[in-house]
Amino acid sequence: MAETWYPAEQLFIGGAWREAARHLPVEDPSTGEEIGRIARGTAADIDAAVAAAEAARAGAWGRATAAERGRVLSRIGQLVQARAEALARIEAADVGKPLSQARADALALARYLEFYGGAADKVMGETIPYLEDYTVYTLREPHGVTGHIVPWNYPMQIIGRSVGAALAMGNACVVKPAEEASLTALAFAALAAEAGLPAGALNVVPGLGEEAGAALAGHPGVRHVSFTGSPEVGALVQAAAARNAVPVTLELGGKSPQLVFADADLEAALPFLVGAGIQNAGQTCSAAARILVERPLAERLTEAMAARYRALVAGPALADRDLGPLISAARKAAVEGCLARGSDLAVAARGTVAGDAPAGGHYLAPVLFAGVPPGHQLAQEEIFGPVQTIIAFDDEAEAAAIANGTPYGLVAGVWTRDGARQMRLARRLRAGQVFLNTYGAGGGVELPFGGVGRSGHGREKGFEALYGFSVLKTVAARHG
Ligand code: NAD
Repeated sequence: MAETWYPAEQLFIGGAWREAARHLPVEDPSTGEEIGRIARGTAADIDAAVAAAEAARAGAWGRATAAERGRVLSRIGQLVQARAEALARIEAADVGKPLSQARADALALARYLEFYGGAADKVMGETIPYLEDYTVYTLREPHGVTGHIVPWNYPMQIIGRSVGAALAMGNACVVKPAEEASLTALAFAALAAEAGLPAGALNVVPGLGEEAGAALAGHPGVRHVSFTGSPEVGALVQAAAARNAVPVTLELGGKSPQLVFADADLEAALPFLVGAGIQNAGQTCSAAARILVERPLAERLTEAMAARYRALVAGPALADRDLGPLISAARKAAVEGCLARGSDLAVAARGTVAGDAPAGGHYLAPVLFAGVPPGHQLAQEEIFGPVQTIIAFDDEAEAAAIANGTPYGLVAGVWTRDGARQMRLARRLRAGQVFLNTYGAGGGVELPFGGVGRSGHGREKGFEALYGFSVLKTVAARHG
């Protein structure tokens, strides 16, 4: 762990670094080697973090004006921007993602802070026409203490979109990063303190999901929970929060489709079809796991994607190849288990693992399946690895039915030159975001994001997140 402007083994609570009683190892997925330790936060640490956040709300942070909140967020964003390269290297070592993808994450974090810094003082209520002798207006107020449970695949982007919006609205945050990747959350906390964020407005408690995570989800002092992760754990988090009757945002998994019609510009689509499957080694909630193609184009599309797959190389994060390793040996085993369930399917192409990739790293050559029946297990369940399935369809109605035919609904893409079809499908597809002749949720800080069905509920990103991280109060004054 080369970059140490933050004490990686400690907890950040109430604006100060605290020793932890126990620790968890940090593994570099590119090598399989242990590169350090992080704190294993406890329920008592969560109690302390929530108390510190409550104190911040009652103190300087609670009194800060919207403009002041915006200014400090913008300053944090500038520090993130200035340290983007260092943050990217920390993330590359911790998550195993290719350096250029880690750089994009660091810049996205800076951009979230710029966006929410600029938006903080632009959230307004309404006046509501009511009875003659009344004036009625609405206020947008913070929830209070917000809990943020973060996965390992895009720590910086997810912290940017949820903590950025929560702080903009005046909440005080307790973040529980993933046990597999907590370093950039800690580095971010140090930058926030350096930028002058009041003590307790942001607290970071690394630790295990079933310990620190469960304690945060069910804490009676937490007034809103933002969870990004698996549907299984999302259900536990929602149940824990329900006991305190607090709202929850769930950003869960996906099995997102891109629909390619025979009239599409295939050359324009190809980088998006493949890129959205292998980005972050397929460990992306909005990965385009299913490519639906109109039958007359199926053979050409399969050949073109297969040619690209054969050129894909997985290698160490710092070598910055097409994809890095998977996050852990367990994740790699899980993806291999899925692949075994596809033994009856035709493999159109595989990529390769670089010859110089360290033997201890969790590399997996990407796999493209073609001619996949839409009901096949590999076309239904989230694999969360570098695996895509090509599924053929005969007409628009069938394409929509297949696209909507999983329990998920996160993102969808449509490639066609037919404008009316674009509009029809944009309405018909069951997804939180629909892209027309493009695809990608990775960028788009400004674009509200979230799922339906098993992909979750609530929206983060964009201006919409500011509503989610606030409570609407109606004030009715009778003045005779
Ligand atoms: P996960 O659900 O195992 O873990 C996510 C977080 O929850 C971690 O911080 C973990 O420590 C914590 N956690 C685990 N058990 C907990 C418990 N009992 N109570 C409270 N917290 C607990 O998910 P993962 O394996 O880290 O991430 C992969 C999943 O996340 C995939 O399904 C993926 O699609 C999804 N994801 C979704 C989005 C999105 O925006 N929709 C983004 C990234 C990842």
